[in-house]
Amino acid sequence: MKPSLILFLLSCLLAAETISAQQVDKYASQRQMMIEEIASDASRLVKYIDKDSVSDRVMQSMATVPRHLFIPPEMRDEAYENRPLPIGYGQTISQPYIVALMTDLLQPQPDHKVLEIGTGSGYQAAVLSGLVKEVYSIEIIDKLGLTAKRVLKQLGYDNVSTRIADGYDGWPEHAQFDSIIVTAGISHIPPPLVKQLKNGGTMVIPVGTRFQTQQLTLVKKDLNGAITTKQILPVIFVPFTGGH
Ligand code: SAH
Repeated sequence: MKPSLILFLLSCLLAAETISAQQVDKYASQRQMMIEEIASDASRLVKYIDKDSVSDRVMQSMATVPRHLFIPPEMRDEAYENRPLPIGYGQTISQPYIVALMTDLLQPQPDHKVLEIGTGSGYQAAVLSGLVKEVYSIEIIDKLGLTAKRVLKQLGYDNVSTRIADGYDGWPEHAQFDSIIVTAGISHIPPPLVKQLKNGGTMVIPVGTRFQTQQLTLVKKDLNGAITTKQILPVIFVPFTGGH
Protein backbone atom coordinates (compact mmCIF):
# COMPACT_ATOMS: atom_id res chain seq x y z
CA MET A 1 0.00 0.00 0.00
CA LYS A 2 1.26 3.48 -0.92
CA PRO A 3 2.32 5.62 2.07
CA SER A 4 -0.06 8.37 0.90
CA LEU A 5 -2.97 5.91 0.95
CA ILE A 6 -2.03 4.75 4.45
CA LEU A 7 -1.93 8.39 5.57
CA PHE A 8 -5.33 9.02 3.98
CA LEU A 9 -6.86 5.97 5.71
CA LEU A 10 -5.31 6.99 9.01
CA SER A 11 -6.74 10.50 8.79
CA CYS A 12 -10.20 9.07 7.97
CA LEU A 13 -9.95 6.86 11.02
CA LEU A 14 -8.92 9.80 13.21
CA ALA A 15 -11.78 11.93 11.84
CA ALA A 16 -14.29 9.19 12.58
CA GLU A 17 -12.97 8.88 16.12
CA THR A 18 -13.24 12.62 16.66
CA ILE A 19 -16.86 12.61 15.51
CA SER A 20 -17.88 9.81 17.84
CA ALA A 21 -15.96 11.42 20.73
CA GLN A 22 -17.77 14.69 19.99
CA GLN A 23 -21.13 12.88 20.01
CA VAL A 24 -20.40 11.27 23.35
CA ASP A 25 -19.15 14.63 24.67
CA LYS A 26 -22.19 16.45 23.37
CA TYR A 27 -24.46 14.32 25.55
CA ALA A 28 -22.04 14.35 28.47
CA SER A 29 -22.03 18.14 28.58
CA GLN A 30 -25.83 18.29 28.13
CA ARG A 31 -26.17 15.80 30.96
CA GLN A 32 -23.92 17.94 33.14
CA MET A 33 -26.07 20.98 32.36
CA MET A 34 -29.16 19.01 33.37
CA ILE A 35 -27.48 18.18 36.69
CA GLU A 36 -26.67 21.85 37.27
CA GLU A 37 -30.26 22.78 36.51
CA ILE A 38 -31.59 20.19 38.98
CA ALA A 39 -29.15 21.47 41.60
CA SER A 40 -30.29 25.06 41.09
CA ASP A 41 -33.95 23.96 41.17
CA ALA A 42 -33.18 22.31 44.48
CA SER A 43 -33.70 25.56 46.38
CA ARG A 44 -37.38 25.02 45.48
CA LEU A 45 -37.16 21.79 47.45
CA VAL A 46 -36.93 23.55 50.79
CA LYS A 47 -40.61 24.32 50.91
CA TYR A 48 -41.55 20.74 50.04
CA ILE A 49 -39.01 18.64 51.91
CA ASP A 50 -36.85 19.76 54.77
CA LYS A 51 -33.66 20.23 52.79
CA ASP A 52 -32.35 22.34 49.95
CA SER A 53 -30.57 19.75 47.84
CA VAL A 54 -30.96 16.31 46.34
CA SER A 55 -28.56 13.81 47.95
CA ASP A 56 -25.14 13.40 46.32
CA ARG A 57 -25.72 9.71 45.61
CA VAL A 58 -28.91 10.47 43.66
CA MET A 59 -27.25 13.31 41.75
CA GLN A 60 -24.32 11.03 40.95
CA SER A 61 -26.66 8.42 39.51
CA MET A 62 -28.54 11.04 37.46
CA ALA A 63 -25.16 12.24 36.17
CA THR A 64 -24.23 8.81 34.84
CA VAL A 65 -27.45 7.37 33.35
CA PRO A 66 -27.58 8.09 29.57
CA ARG A 67 -31.13 9.51 29.46
CA HIS A 68 -30.91 9.97 25.67
CA LEU A 69 -30.79 6.19 25.19
CA PHE A 70 -34.19 5.75 26.89
CA ILE A 71 -36.15 7.96 24.52
CA PRO A 72 -37.09 7.62 20.84
CA PRO A 73 -34.05 8.38 18.60
CA GLU A 74 -35.71 11.38 16.91
CA MET A 75 -36.01 13.14 20.29
CA ARG A 76 -32.49 12.46 21.62
CA ASP A 77 -31.31 16.06 21.26
CA GLU A 78 -34.02 17.10 23.74
CA ALA A 79 -33.23 14.31 26.19
CA TYR A 80 -31.53 16.50 28.78
CA GLU A 81 -34.00 19.37 28.84
CA ASN A 82 -35.66 19.65 32.24
CA ARG A 83 -39.11 18.58 31.05
CA PRO A 84 -41.10 15.41 30.39
CA LEU A 85 -40.90 13.88 26.88
CA PRO A 86 -43.20 11.56 24.92
CA ILE A 87 -42.04 7.93 24.74
CA GLY A 88 -44.90 6.62 22.55
CA TYR A 89 -48.27 4.98 23.32
CA GLY A 90 -49.44 8.25 24.92
CA GLN A 91 -46.91 7.90 27.75
CA THR A 92 -44.10 10.19 28.95
CA ILE A 93 -40.71 9.96 30.59
CA SER A 94 -40.81 12.22 33.66
CA GLN A 95 -39.01 15.54 33.96
CA PRO A 96 -35.45 14.99 35.34
CA TYR A 97 -36.10 17.21 38.37
CA ILE A 98 -39.13 15.09 39.34
CA VAL A 99 -37.13 11.86 38.82
CA ALA A 100 -34.42 13.26 41.13
CA LEU A 101 -36.92 14.39 43.75
CA MET A 102 -38.91 11.12 43.77
CA THR A 103 -35.72 9.04 43.91
CA ASP A 104 -34.42 11.15 46.80
CA LEU A 105 -37.69 10.80 48.72
CA LEU A 106 -37.22 7.02 48.69
CA GLN A 107 -33.90 7.46 50.54
CA PRO A 108 -32.40 4.60 48.52
CA GLN A 109 -29.78 2.47 50.30
CA PRO A 110 -27.33 -0.09 48.82
CA ASP A 111 -29.15 -3.03 50.45
CA HIS A 112 -32.66 -1.95 49.36
CA LYS A 113 -35.17 -3.81 47.22
CA VAL A 114 -37.39 -1.37 45.33
CA LEU A 115 -40.63 -1.85 43.37
CA GLU A 116 -41.51 0.54 40.56
CA ILE A 117 -44.99 0.66 38.99
CA GLY A 118 -44.83 2.15 35.47
CA THR A 119 -41.52 1.13 33.84
CA GLY A 120 -42.25 3.36 30.82
CA SER A 121 -38.87 3.98 29.18
CA GLY A 122 -36.89 2.27 31.95
CA TYR A 123 -35.07 5.52 32.84
CA GLN A 124 -36.30 5.77 36.45
CA ALA A 125 -35.41 2.10 36.97
CA ALA A 126 -31.90 2.79 35.61
CA VAL A 127 -31.45 5.76 37.98
CA LEU A 128 -32.44 3.50 40.89
CA SER A 129 -30.29 0.60 39.68
CA GLY A 130 -26.98 2.08 40.84
CA LEU A 131 -28.41 3.16 44.19
CA VAL A 132 -30.01 -0.03 45.51
CA LYS A 133 -29.53 -3.80 45.46
CA GLU A 134 -32.53 -4.83 43.36
CA VAL A 135 -35.16 -3.03 41.31
CA TYR A 136 -38.45 -4.69 40.26
CA SER A 137 -40.42 -2.75 37.69
CA ILE A 138 -43.88 -3.44 36.24
CA GLU A 139 -45.33 -1.98 33.03
CA ILE A 140 -48.85 -2.53 31.70
CA ILE A 141 -48.14 -1.68 28.01
CA ASP A 142 -46.26 -4.68 26.66
CA LYS A 143 -44.40 -2.88 23.83
CA LEU A 144 -43.04 -0.25 26.24
CA GLY A 145 -42.12 -2.84 28.84
CA LEU A 146 -40.30 -5.01 26.30
CA THR A 147 -38.36 -2.07 24.84
CA ALA A 148 -37.36 -0.92 28.32
CA LYS A 149 -36.26 -4.45 29.22
CA ARG A 150 -34.04 -4.60 26.11
CA VAL A 151 -32.45 -1.17 26.71
CA LEU A 152 -31.82 -1.90 30.40
CA LYS A 153 -30.17 -5.19 29.46
CA GLN A 154 -28.05 -3.65 26.68
CA LEU A 155 -26.79 -0.98 29.06
CA GLY A 156 -25.95 -3.53 31.74
CA TYR A 157 -28.50 -2.61 34.43
CA ASP A 158 -28.49 -6.22 35.56
CA ASN A 159 -30.16 -5.75 38.94
CA VAL A 160 -33.41 -4.54 37.31
CA SER A 161 -36.13 -7.16 36.75
CA THR A 162 -39.10 -6.19 34.61
CA ARG A 163 -42.54 -7.62 34.14
CA ILE A 164 -45.56 -6.89 31.94
CA ALA A 165 -48.63 -6.79 34.18
CA ASP A 166 -51.12 -4.55 35.95
CA GLY A 167 -49.00 -3.07 38.71
CA TYR A 168 -52.00 -2.47 40.98
CA ASP A 169 -51.38 -5.89 42.50
CA GLY A 170 -47.66 -5.28 42.98
CA TRP A 171 -45.23 -8.18 42.69
CA PRO A 172 -46.08 -10.46 45.64
CA GLU A 173 -43.41 -13.06 44.77
CA HIS A 174 -40.68 -10.49 45.55
CA ALA A 175 -42.35 -8.63 48.45
CA GLN A 176 -41.57 -7.14 50.96
CA PHE A 177 -40.06 -3.98 49.45
CA ASP A 178 -38.03 -1.31 51.25
CA SER A 179 -39.62 1.25 48.97
CA ILE A 180 -42.18 1.55 46.20
CA ILE A 181 -42.32 4.23 43.52
CA VAL A 182 -45.46 4.70 41.43
CA THR A 183 -44.99 6.79 38.28
CA ALA A 184 -48.62 7.05 37.11
CA GLY A 185 -51.39 9.10 38.72
CA ILE A 186 -54.09 7.22 40.63
CA SER A 187 -57.14 8.21 42.70
CA HIS A 188 -56.02 6.27 45.79
CA ILE A 189 -53.09 4.34 47.25
CA PRO A 190 -53.48 0.69 46.14
CA PRO A 191 -53.90 -1.53 49.24
CA PRO A 192 -51.83 -4.39 47.71
CA LEU A 193 -48.86 -2.01 47.45
CA VAL A 194 -49.27 -0.90 51.07
CA LYS A 195 -49.29 -4.57 52.04
CA GLN A 196 -46.08 -5.25 50.11
CA LEU A 197 -44.21 -2.35 51.74
CA LYS A 198 -41.89 -3.36 54.59
CA ASN A 199 -42.40 -1.94 58.05
CA GLY A 200 -40.17 1.13 58.09
CA GLY A 201 -40.62 1.45 54.30
CA THR A 202 -41.45 4.41 52.05
CA MET A 203 -43.72 4.81 49.04
CA VAL A 204 -43.90 7.77 46.64
CA ILE A 205 -47.06 8.01 44.56
CA PRO A 206 -48.96 10.73 42.64
CA VAL A 207 -52.50 10.69 44.06
CA GLY A 208 -55.36 12.55 42.40
CA THR A 209 -57.87 12.83 39.62
CA ARG A 210 -57.29 11.59 36.08
CA PHE A 211 -55.66 14.16 33.73
CA GLN A 212 -55.64 16.79 36.49
CA THR A 213 -53.00 17.79 38.96
CA GLN A 214 -52.16 15.10 41.46
CA GLN A 215 -50.40 15.45 44.79
CA LEU A 216 -47.06 13.68 44.95
CA THR A 217 -47.62 11.78 48.18
CA LEU A 218 -45.05 10.33 50.55
CA VAL A 219 -46.38 7.25 52.33
CA LYS A 220 -44.49 5.93 55.36
CA LYS A 221 -45.10 2.62 57.09
CA ASP A 222 -43.65 2.73 60.58
CA LEU A 223 -42.01 -0.15 62.42
CA ASN A 224 -45.39 -1.23 63.80
CA GLY A 225 -47.01 -1.15 60.35
CA ALA A 226 -48.94 2.11 60.88
CA ILE A 227 -49.34 4.32 57.80
CA THR A 228 -48.84 8.09 57.57
CA THR A 229 -49.10 10.17 54.41
CA LYS A 230 -47.73 13.58 53.51
CA GLN A 231 -48.47 15.61 50.40
CA ILE A 232 -45.23 16.88 48.87
CA LEU A 233 -46.10 18.92 45.78
CA PRO A 234 -48.58 19.12 42.89
CA VAL A 235 -47.56 17.08 39.83
CA ILE A 236 -49.09 15.88 36.57
CA PHE A 237 -48.56 12.24 35.66
CA VAL A 238 -50.16 10.06 32.99
CA PRO A 239 -53.06 7.99 34.40
CA PHE A 240 -52.65 4.69 36.20
CA THR A 241 -54.65 2.31 34.01
CA GLY A 242 -55.74 -1.29 34.43
CA GLY A 243 -58.69 -2.95 36.06
CA HIS A 244 -58.74 -1.56 39.61
N1 SAH B 1 -41.06 5.70 35.08
C1 SAH B 1 -41.16 5.90 33.65
C2 SAH B 1 -42.23 6.91 33.25
C3 SAH B 1 -43.53 6.34 33.44
S1 SAH B 1 -44.91 6.99 32.59
C4 SAH B 1 -39.84 6.30 33.03
O1 SAH B 1 -38.86 6.47 33.75
O2 SAH B 1 -39.82 6.43 31.81
C5 SAH B 1 -46.07 5.95 33.44
C6 SAH B 1 -46.08 4.52 32.99
O3 SAH B 1 -46.99 3.82 33.83
C7 SAH B 1 -46.59 4.35 31.56
O4 SAH B 1 -45.66 3.66 30.80
C8 SAH B 1 -47.88 3.54 31.76
O5 SAH B 1 -48.14 2.64 30.71
C9 SAH B 1 -47.60 2.82 33.07
N2 SAH B 1 -48.79 2.34 33.76
C10 SAH B 1 -50.01 2.94 33.86
N3 SAH B 1 -50.84 2.17 34.57
C11 SAH B 1 -50.15 1.06 34.94
C12 SAH B 1 -50.50 -0.12 35.67
N4 SAH B 1 -51.71 -0.32 36.15
N5 SAH B 1 -49.53 -1.05 35.87
C13 SAH B 1 -48.27 -0.87 35.35
N6 SAH B 1 -47.91 0.22 34.64
C14 SAH B 1 -48.83 1.17 34.43
